[in-house]
Amino acid sequence: MLQHGKAVHEWEERMRREQYDEGVRAQNKRKASIEQKLLEMGYQISDFPKWSYDWSRLLGQPRELTPRIWKQIQPKLLLIIACEKQRKLAHALRTRMDMRKAEVKQQYQLYLKDVLDDKLLLPNIWELVILPEVKALMSEEEATIEVTRERFMGVVSQAVDTFNLEERARLVKMLQEPALRIPDYNPYEGRGKDTTTPMDAEGDVEKLNHATSIFSCSRRKFHPDAPRRPVVGVLENIVDTASVVLKMLGLSSHTAHTEVPKKVVCLCGRPDFQQPAEFLELVVHIKEEVRWYKQTMSNRRNPSEPTDQEITIHNDHDLSIENPFVKLLLDDETLLPPDSITHNLDLPNCIECRFCVQLITPHSRSSISLVHQTATDFVHHVRTKHQVEPTNEDASYSHNSAATLDDKQ
Ligand SMILES: [Zn+2]
Ligand SMILES: [Zn+2]
Repeated sequence: MLQHGKAVHEWEERMRREQYDEGVRAQNKRKASIEQKLLEMGYQISDFPKWSYDWSRLLGQPRELTPRIWKQIQPKLLLIIACEKQRKLAHALRTRMDMRKAEVKQQYQLYLKDVLDDKLLLPNIWELVILPEVKALMSEEEATIEVTRERFMGVVSQAVDTFNLEERARLVKMLQEPALRIPDYNPYEGRGKDTTTPMDAEGDVEKLNHATSIFSCSRRKFHPDAPRRPVVGVLENIVDTASVVLKMLGLSSHTAHTEVPKKVVCLCGRPDFQQPAEFLELVVHIKEEVRWYKQTMSNRRNPSEPTDQEITIHNDHDLSIENPFVKLLLDDETLLPPDSITHNLDLPNCIECRFCVQLITPHSRSSISLVHQTATDFVHHVRTKHQVEPTNEDASYSHNSAATLDDKQ
């Protein structure tokens, strides 16, 4: 009985295997018949897709290829072959374009060595390859022609000119839109969407020479090695601040940045601004001082509390007042050595102002810096902003400096 059972089992196994093999044979036969037909039509084995679900599904069936089935599946197969051809062509074109791009990059690096004009705005490699002149050069004859030095030099000046025209127009536009801030600026968005043509803005480009046309830049925009997405922006209130400062100095707001005298002083007496500074440096300092005042005023914890009302918050960089707080030094004029900030306090470095800590809400601490690096900075702050004489008790240790203090002990 046992012997018989085993024999039946083996027989079943054999039948299953034979059926399976037969199925595979039938599939292979169908596949070979279809391929043969396509070869007769003039296609090559290399035209057939290697990885295609639809293709495998049509070929890999046990049903024999009859004239009727062939008639049915032939258009589908030809369509798959056509798509495969397209895909291969696109892939090959991309590969060739990558080669052209690498050649452009190499030639651009050589070209940059001879660029002497420091006013020229230079595209980075990603910006360069999308300029129409360079794009045309790379794609000529399906991107089959090597970008040699000669071919590259034939277009690069025009391409850089195009870039300068476009970018300057964009920068002028940015100045006219004071709301635009760094995180909103994306050099790739808006290309094409922008309806101002470089020609429209050409007349305004002169504005870029004004001392008030101040841009901020992170990730080295206009540097050929800049990463893909460099950012340029206009800092909030910077243009207006610069205009007021020029007015205070008795200069027109259209003064060119090359004509702003180098010796300008802020009379606020802040320790790090007691010596003549560059105009730009000074404007940034004043903008920050004004920002501090506005932020402090608008983030007061209890503006109606009498204890808070007793604390003065003075704006010593008031842009609206008639008394200017900046001074232009004549070429031969030297600033009298300012009174050094003296005090008898005994304080460590990195301290916070007790008045500010009491005044502002805890959540605004991230936007208003409370830390004063040195006791002198702190004394100057309390005297000018709160208009009182500071005591040791008015300083509290900054949380950030706890480690430093521990180290010293
Ligand atoms: Zn100042
Ligand atoms: Zn304070």
